[in-house]
Amino acid sequence: MLIFNKIYKVLRFIPPLLLGMLFISFLTSCSDTKEITSQSKPMLHTFVEIKVCGNSAEKVINEAFIEMERVNLLLNNYDRESEISKINKFSGEKAVAISPVTMDALQRAVMFADMSKGAFDFTIGPLLKLWGFSKEKAGLDSDNPTPEKINMVKELVDYRALKLAVLKNGNKTIRAAMLLKKGMYIDVGAFSKGYVADRAMEIIKNNGIKDALVSAGGTIVACGKKPDNSLWKIGIRHPRKEGSFLSFVELNDCSVSTSGDYERYFKKKNKRFTHIIDPRTGKPVNRHQSVTVIAKTGIESDALSTALFVMGTKDGIALVNSLPGVDALIINHAGKVFMSKEWPQKIVIY
Ligand code: ADP
Ligand code: MG
Repeated sequence: MLIFNKIYKVLRFIPPLLLGMLFISFLTSCSDTKEITSQSKPMLHTFVEIKVCGNSAEKVINEAFIEMERVNLLLNNYDRESEISKINKFSGEKAVAISPVTMDALQRAVMFADMSKGAFDFTIGPLLKLWGFSKEKAGLDSDNPTPEKINMVKELVDYRALKLAVLKNGNKTIRAAMLLKKGMYIDVGAFSKGYVADRAMEIIKNNGIKDALVSAGGTIVACGKKPDNSLWKIGIRHPRKEGSFLSFVELNDCSVSTSGDYERYFKKKNKRFTHIIDPRTGKPVNRHQSVTVIAKTGIESDALSTALFVMGTKDGIALVNSLPGVDALIINHAGKVFMSKEWPQKIVIY
């Protein structure tokens, strides 16, 4: 009950319309097959849906949801009791003990921050606050922050100032994390859905299930096939035409994530301020309308879709082309379409 209260508390912070529009939408092709068992729940500031084909599907789905809730309670920076919140609370003061799960998630996040040369930076929290994205209704109470203020807050954003340590004491292992400067703040928004979806899929596979799909907001992780032996297929939302699709993608044991400027934003003097911030300029990014990434795991597609949203088109596509099993579809601010070398569906309607 406590968990549900918490989830609903968080959900109050999201405009109801947003809740209804997962920016990657399912095609309804599964609904005519009896063997798919499906359940959805509000979680991770969105709706999470799990579809499983096989025996004991209900039990497996429940186990997967329990794991997702467990991991979310460790990572959610909006939950004061989470381990991430403890790291944030004691920034610049002391190291805090963390679980293997939090350590694993943070180590992976650091990898993507390195890979994107800091375009993806999970210590973006203070800049999100500065631009009015850490409250219920995103928006600025007064004028845009001054360049001086932006520069001051930017000093608090640097993932390299997160120190992680694993210490062995006899047969005991201690894991600890510390943010070096007071006021630093980790925000897991760009990778936690992917990470948690991966954990759910792990539970599902450990139960011997071969065909399943986990959808957590903008991230979908799929394995195996539907009962009619076709691959799971999803439509990628058009960033400007609600209800229309840009492209359809078949998921072959992989994950897909979309980051969009329509997801959480406010408008001021007809200018759109979106929830993804460039750590280098300290300002909301207005480079792209949407970025979709296909990768092997949820955390990879989730983190990289945010990273590419911040990076220039050329650098972003080059990064993806250098990574095996990773592909991207970018719609820039002007509606121009860019695809990586092996983007599976060459026909994209914009
Ligand atoms: P969504 O949360 O809609 O699925 P994303 O995965 O792209 O979309 O994540 C956007 C979220 O990531 C923002 O709401 C914020 O919490 C966080 N964020 C914003 N800018 C950055 C950044 N440069 N690096 C890492 N995280 C960011
Ligand atoms: Mg992301």
